[in-house]
Amino acid sequence: MLLFDSHAHLDSIAYPKSVDISNVIAVSVDLKTSLYFSSCSSLSRNLNVYPFVGLHPWFIERNFEFDLTSLRQLIIESGNSIYGMGEIGLDYYHNSSNKIEQQACFEAQIAMAAEFSLPVSVHCVKAFNDLYAILRLSSVNGVIHSFPLKRQEAKRLVSLGLKLGLNPRIITSNMTERHAFYQQFPLSVWVVESDFPNLNRDNVCYDPRLGMLALIKDLALAYGISNEEVAVQIYNTTQQLLMRA
Ligand SMILES: [Zn+2]
Repeated sequence: MLLFDSHAHLDSIAYPKSVDISNVIAVSVDLKTSLYFSSCSSLSRNLNVYPFVGLHPWFIERNFEFDLTSLRQLIIESGNSIYGMGEIGLDYYHNSSNKIEQQACFEAQIAMAAEFSLPVSVHCVKAFNDLYAILRLSSVNGVIHSFPLKRQEAKRLVSLGLKLGLNPRIITSNMTERHAFYQQFPLSVWVVESDFPNLNRDNVCYDPRLGMLALIKDLALAYGISNEEVAVQIYNTTQQLLMRA
């Protein structure tokens, strides 16, 4: 079974080798990680790495305009080795005192993604109304990563043509509720992610493959099709995400 990890952080801990995982989208969180990824397109021989660059809402500095200018330059200079923008977004749970800055920074990055025809990987916590308000004005392609069990929010974002990223954490929710949530959409809406290494616990390195396989099994059960069919669809959806408009 071939897996495509749609969201992982590869800058600090080595991503475990796996025969199943052939492709991974490597997101950045600030200028430093963006610089790192823009200079290395392959971290290992068996893994195709697709670097995304961007400023995560947790790491927006006062002078973020300067970082945005540098990011823009980085995209121009790196030619085709940058595949998207992320992880970008809004997080009012983590910090509700800089909403205006978060919105301005997100809006600017969405505009940049549109300008360069790059897909986006979006982080959103407790900010779905403002997120939708910004995204609906753009035709940008992308995925909302680690999507929670929120039906109305999901419907609105899917109506914009965006994909929803499933994080293994969702499997701890109520199964009946979760499967009903999946079933309101076609399978082509979903991608899966490991969010490596954020699910590591107590210094134990978790295997990104296990979480994604669990998600694929869960989707197969909900849609009444085979694991293999789900895996193929998810792989294709993730690949399409990376195509330049
Ligand atoms: Zn992340």
